Amino acid sequence: EQSLKESLYLVSEYASKYFQETMHNTNAGKAIALSYFKERGFTLETIKKFDLGYCLDEWSAFTDTALKKGYKLEFLEGTGLTIVKGEKQFDRFKGRVMFPIQSMSGRVLGFGGRILTNDKKAAKYLNSPESDIYHKSKVLYGIFQAKQSIAKEDNCFIVEGYTDVIQFHQSGITNTVSSSGTALTSDQIRLINRLTKNITVLFDGDAAGLRASLRGIDLILEQGMNVKVCTFPEGEDPDSFAKSNTENELREYLEEHSQDFIQFKASILFEDSKNDPIKKAETVRDIVNSISKIPDRIKAEIYIKECARIMDVSEGVLFSTLAQLNQKENN
Ligand code: ATP
Ligand code: MN
Ligand code: MN
Ligand code: MN
Repeated sequence: EQSLKESLYLVSEYASKYFQETMHNTNAGKAIALSYFKERGFTLETIKKFDLGYCLDEWSAFTDTALKKGYKLEFLEGTGLTIVKGEKQFDRFKGRVMFPIQSMSGRVLGFGGRILTNDKKAAKYLNSPESDIYHKSKVLYGIFQAKQSIAKEDNCFIVEGYTDVIQFHQSGITNTVSSSGTALTSDQIRLINRLTKNITVLFDGDAAGLRASLRGIDLILEQGMNVKVCTFPEGEDPDSFAKSNTENELREYLEEHSQDFIQFKASILFEDSKNDPIKKAETVRDIVNSISKIPDRIKAEIYIKECARIMDVSEGVLFSTLAQLNQKENN
């Protein structure tokens, strides 16, 4: 068991080196992948900081080389880097630029790979499948590069994607990580909780999934942490915004547009439901439910008062709803 895991780590480590080597030192790598990252505005220093790489657009270039080096097919398949079909072997990430996903201590656990074409039929990003070393609900992309800064700044920015993390780091906002497309989990939040009690969740300006994400953010409250949210202008995400603004402009934007989560949630849900009494009642319950997750009762009381004001209902009805919810929880 321990040695199986160790073998998977070794294969992943080797693959990451191989993909970097391929990008920096082959003609195809330089022409296709390195130039892609440079066009996205990443400097060579940034590209190296995140160990970005490239998997050649050939059926099994990586797998063949790894086998020749003595890595066993069993472990290549175990990491998901190689797909085995009968007698044949294929590189899962064929033709993709590679983002190694590292643990808190810097070990390579898995990969994200992005296509370079605009082929709408292929998935834009592909991730390693779950394995004995890669559990996507327990990792945060960028945590290895961000951990010191998260502790020092006493705040953590969570963004949606790989390139958002990278562009933020390049812009000097190094306390940034990503859950990489999946809804935030308690395990991911626990990783951050060891470093800071303050999280700011940054949303792409496409609103897709914003309402769905609200529930995941309740998990942060449950761990007694403070949550703010910040949205970006329509059509922008943290990557594009950071790329087209100076570090000062970016910091200013984050400062000015970060809102307390409960207030944010109350205001957008209220906007959706204010003309419909039934929806409004649901909204009120939803908000109070979020507040009931907050372990600190004093903080909870302050939020109740805030929300009564935002949603134009009496504090009394909110307090009694809160009491009911707490009652239920205790039973
Ligand atoms: P880019 O700027 O490279 O187009 P992005 O990070 O802005 O990428 P989004 O569409 O905003 O991409 O998605 C956010 C994150 O969700 C991605 O970084 C990736 O981790 C994940 N993701 C996006 N599309 C897919 C997909 N088709 N399959 C799996 N994961 C995906
Ligand atoms: Mn998005
Ligand atoms: Mn995006
Ligand atoms: Mn993007």
